[in-house]
Amino acid sequence: MRLSRSQEIFARAQTLIPGGVNSPVRAFRGVGGTPPFIARGEGSKLYDVDGNEYIDYVGSWGPLILGHRAPPVLDALRETLDIGTSFGAPTEREVDLAALICECVPSIEMVRLVNSGTEATMSALRVARGYTGRDLTVKFEGCYHGHVDSLLVKAGSGMATLGIADTQGVPRSFAETTLALRYNSIDAVEAVFAARGDEIAAVIVEPVAGNMGCVPPRPGFLQALRELTSRHGALLIIDEVMTGFRVALGGAQQLYGIRPDLTTLGKIVGGGLPIAAYGGRADIMTRVAPTGPIYQAGTLSGNPLAVAAGLAMLRYLKAHPEVYRRLEEMGSRISASAPDGITVNRVGSMFTFFFTAQPVTDYESARTSDLARFRAFFHWMLERGVYLAPSQFEAAFISAAHTDEDIEKTIAAARAFFARSVPARG
Ligand SMILES: *Cc1c(COP(=O)(O)O)cnc(C)c1O
Repeated sequence: MRLSRSQEIFARAQTLIPGGVNSPVRAFRGVGGTPPFIARGEGSKLYDVDGNEYIDYVGSWGPLILGHRAPPVLDALRETLDIGTSFGAPTEREVDLAALICECVPSIEMVRLVNSGTEATMSALRVARGYTGRDLTVKFEGCYHGHVDSLLVKAGSGMATLGIADTQGVPRSFAETTLALRYNSIDAVEAVFAARGDEIAAVIVEPVAGNMGCVPPRPGFLQALRELTSRHGALLIIDEVMTGFRVALGGAQQLYGIRPDLTTLGKIVGGGLPIAAYGGRADIMTRVAPTGPIYQAGTLSGNPLAVAAGLAMLRYLKAHPEVYRRLEEMGSRISASAPDGITVNRVGSMFTFFFTAQPVTDYESARTSDLARFRAFFHWMLERGVYLAPSQFEAAFISAAHTDEDIEKTIAAARAFFARSVPARG
């Protein structure tokens, strides 16, 4: 595999952009080497500037559940270009998208559109504080909720990849409003509520964690969060930025039968353009300005192009429930390919191979994965045209554009790696 053109561009990029990238994990620091610079995408494939072709399991880190250049999304974008790119005034399509979000995710009675998942969680947290009059947030180690100051405590994704436990630049007083507990530990949540229940504004959780690799909730974990928050007058915020429209049309809350007070959405809801959303109970959401005193705003929020893409994406998914069956079927074939000694976690089309024999149920157990072996696996797969996230602490995503041939090729490459590589001891 030749990456000479990517190497040239990467060298130039590093003189102009920190690390040469506009989001840290793209820089391949967790695996080493040069990130391929992408020229274009089509369906399940990515093509880099050196002409290499890859089967893409990153999917822009989650949004592209229909693959690259999905026809319904492209058609909606083309139509919208004829009317304009931004108005800063309300449009009917925003209302249509809000209605469709509320229909797909029934716990959302009212919704506000924003531009990124980070904005959605930041706003949901502010609303939870404003509504409850309390300051503390409970989160879980290894969960990532965007780069909101108070949520960058023991966070997953790039923080886990780069080994940054606590970022600089967050005032200690902000970090102190966050209590980070072990994922899947009901005992830890019970203890913190027993001690400080009347100070806790919200519990925020990834209902299927994807940012420490894929880690599903233990049976009863989400139910316990629902029960404890209700009992203590705190809000439950389910962060479905990754899982929304991914693990089911109605997200993980549909899959596990949980009704949160607030939900955050992102990634798929924008169809590959920058949209995210937060919403939930109407009595809470009406406290947001201009109907209430909790302020939140955005110049480009509800941008017509992004709304058109999101609306086309959700309409397609709602009209094609077979997409989820197909994703499940492809996912189960991939997870069945791992031998003993490798732990595969998977929920639908989200999956991670951990290089450990131990079950992975939280951040601590995720870190038992042999990272050197992961790096070897990552590069082995990349060489064979399979593009995985360049970090152990990320989930892989299958799209509806993946073909049986893609899945077979991926499984064959993975099996060849497992057959050759001897697991490290200990
Ligand atoms: C990606 C992600 C975010 C942040 O979204 P951005 O659009 O990157 O700001 C928040 N929460 C979860 C669960 C995510 O996966």
